[in-house]
Amino acid sequence: MFNAFDQEHIWHPYTSMTAPLPCYPVASASGAQIYLEDGRALIDGMSSWWCTIHGYSHPELNQAAIEQLNKMSHMMFGGLTHQPAIELAKILLEITASELDKVFFADSGSVAVEVALKMAVQYWHAQGQPEKSNFVTTRSGYHGDTWNAMSVCDPVTGMHQIFGSSLPNRYFVPAPESRFNGEWQEQDIQPLKQLLAEKHEQIAAMIIEPIVQGAGGMRFYHPEYLRQAKALCKQYDILLILDEIATGFGRTGKLFAYEHADIIPDILCLGKALTGGYMTLSATLTTRQVAETISRGEAGVFMHGPTFMANPLACAVAVKSIQLLLAQDWQANIQRIEQQLSTLYVLDGHPVVKDVRVLGAIGVVELHQAVNLAEFQAECVRRGVWIRPFGRMVYVMPPFIISTAELQTLLEHMIAMIQHLELAA
Ligand SMILES: *Cc1c(COP(=O)(O)O)cnc(C)c1O
Repeated sequence: MFNAFDQEHIWHPYTSMTAPLPCYPVASASGAQIYLEDGRALIDGMSSWWCTIHGYSHPELNQAAIEQLNKMSHMMFGGLTHQPAIELAKILLEITASELDKVFFADSGSVAVEVALKMAVQYWHAQGQPEKSNFVTTRSGYHGDTWNAMSVCDPVTGMHQIFGSSLPNRYFVPAPESRFNGEWQEQDIQPLKQLLAEKHEQIAAMIIEPIVQGAGGMRFYHPEYLRQAKALCKQYDILLILDEIATGFGRTGKLFAYEHADIIPDILCLGKALTGGYMTLSATLTTRQVAETISRGEAGVFMHGPTFMANPLACAVAVKSIQLLLAQDWQANIQRIEQQLSTLYVLDGHPVVKDVRVLGAIGVVELHQAVNLAEFQAECVRRGVWIRPFGRMVYVMPPFIISTAELQTLLEHMIAMIQHLELAA
């Protein structure tokens, strides 16, 4: 059932070309169901990595794409503009903090992060402080795979040692230890406090994923960390970049995860679920003050402009996706999913299980040891579910449209498979 040409010639994410793990051929997908070429159906637990919040092949999103396709699928953004970009920017400014006033559209999450980092550097350069050009972040973070995005990813899971001196050195502080629903431990903020006191003259910005550290460890941390980080950034004249590429658009139970802490970023990165998972698109939002300062600088402009900037097809679908989300009682729906995901807590205390945590529509089971990915995936497919663990993390973040029955089946299989790991150990 595996495709020989694919195995021989096509890279997949983080895979070997000499010993590639099997990739199951997909023919189509609809709602929360993925249909393999051999006819089997899988219940989707991954939302294609945080993206497909409305499920696959949604009639209204399909319609929005077709309508835009018949007008134009792409148009250069230099010297020209279009309604899909204007409408999308309007909606994004409406639903985010009122201080955010300017939108930069790019083509992927990693590029949104590059854009944010460049904005921060240009901001300080424009104010005659070019030495403020480095960044601080926490360990266990993930911000994408391009060069500078990679430089602020966790140095261990991001394997920074491989890239050696070709990778810029950033300032890292330990990941927050206080759990989202736990007690706030004041010492959590000390390393950041100390680092900023010593190094603030070289630091342009702090970048962090609000509340949920995604691909760097699936950790949920205490909102007080964000509040205090924000206050420290203000005190030491450092911009705060929030990377909501994974958490944006309702995933954590708030429209944006920073709302859990009631803080406002200077720069905000959005992506992934922005188009409901239809196409790649990202947005970097910033304040009037940051944008105007950059524009007064030596270059007189912000130095970035990708070919596919504000792609109209992607923007049109993004507008419809956000409208779809806001038109429903999405909070109640995320609560329904969160409650159901809480059945994962039966795994608490299991010998192979280190920790279980649930927040919004994210359910994580952290194991003591990494799973055998090929075996685990084969078992998933045999059982008719799609879960893609990484390392010791077995987690689900289903599409918001998943039915209660589908989610129950997904969780029953996930729990059974993890319980079965004990027998194998
Ligand atoms: C996925 C992700 C990115 C990178 O987005 P791409 O579209 O894969 O480039 C950046 N930051 C976070 C938090 C992410 O989850």
